[in-house]
Amino acid sequence: MTTDCLFCKIVEGKIPASRVYEDELCIGFPDINPQAPTHLLIVPKQHIASQAKAAAEHTPLLGHLLATAASIARSRNLDKGYRVVVNTGEDGGQTVNHLHLHLLGGRHMNWPPG
Ligand code: IMP
Repeated sequence: MTTDCLFCKIVEGKIPASRVYEDELCIGFPDINPQAPTHLLIVPKQHIASQAKAAAEHTPLLGHLLATAASIARSRNLDKGYRVVVNTGEDGGQTVNHLHLHLLGGRHMNWPPG
């Protein structure tokens, strides 16, 4: 836990979030500013500041996060598709410095993203 990290505080239950998913490694909860009918954040319990800080030891965790996104998408019947986004660093649009996946679905996504 990093004391000034918003997502660490959510993981610890110090800031409320409506957990729609939880296992030993990660939690899932709705984004406070949804950009699609389904917009969930999948957040590892371990603090990793960003994708750019991920190391070889995190490989199983990263795979688990992607597999969790797929599992949640299936459970929500996002059969027409969805998008998983990992904003990374300033140019990547990352605003919370705790690695997380956005799972977006329920509408058609455009490309390229903004
Ligand atoms: P980023 O911009 O990729 O770092 O994503 C951070 C996301 O966290 C943004 O989409 C925010 O809307 C979302 N967010 C910020 N604070 C909260 C919160 O307290 N609960 C849920 N989502 C949040």
